[in-house]
Amino acid sequence: MAGSGKFFVGGNWKCNGTKDSITKLVSDLNSAKLETDVDVVVSPPFVYLDQVTASLTSRIEVSAQNSWIGKGGAFTGEISVEQLKDIGCKWVILGHSERRHIIGEDDQFIGKKAAYALNEGLGVIACIGELLEEREAGKTFDVCFQQLKAFADVVPSWDNIVIAYEPVWAIGTGKVATPQQAQEVHVAVRDWLKKNVSEEVASKTRIIYGGSVNGSNCAELAKQEDIDGFLVGGASLKGPEFATIVNSVT
Ligand code: PGA
Repeated sequence: MAGSGKFFVGGNWKCNGTKDSITKLVSDLNSAKLETDVDVVVSPPFVYLDQVTASLTSRIEVSAQNSWIGKGGAFTGEISVEQLKDIGCKWVILGHSERRHIIGEDDQFIGKKAAYALNEGLGVIACIGELLEEREAGKTFDVCFQQLKAFADVVPSWDNIVIAYEPVWAIGTGKVATPQQAQEVHVAVRDWLKKNVSEEVASKTRIIYGGSVNGSNCAELAKQEDIDGFLVGGASLKGPEFATIVNSVT
């Protein structure tokens, strides 16, 4: 843990679940024993956000998986930051690789969303990460820095941002980055913040790792000095395993 504040563990449920399975997951989370010294956030699909904010213990905060770039209105299919706040959401995940690479969101569009959400008081889990071919071509840092710069260029402040480093080749593949690979990028990201934003932001911003984190590999990863938490996909759909990950804080 190098960033200030608490270890941060987010559960990204992606486009998974039904009313029934989410009722069960919330009930498992409500009864789980969670370390007090960890910020815990879960991110259900939009249609279940209200159900989850209404039934989940206040110990766990709720995040959306996306938000619109500005005030609501005639934007079919979009969800505004104001609506998210209205139902009790505290966070939004932006720049996730599935939105970058499957939906085609670019840095500029993601930056607009981040600036708007932060200005309106929503916390942002800002995701960055390289594709396998970019890693193999030795471009990991360049890609991460470019994505980071797109956030840095527009955000009004860093008080409410958590950076999630998620190598795309590790997401949903079962191929987790080694603790050393993750630590190396986290240090580089912190160093970039120091040089390009400020020493204060570099030392206080939490940089979390995502990509095939599970109950078995979390403890080794959590030992790394610059890993300040996790963004968990698949394993966050199982309440007891997610609790193990939350409790891996060292
Ligand atoms: P995964 O997903 O844990 O299933 O690899 C992580 C993420 O996409 O945030």
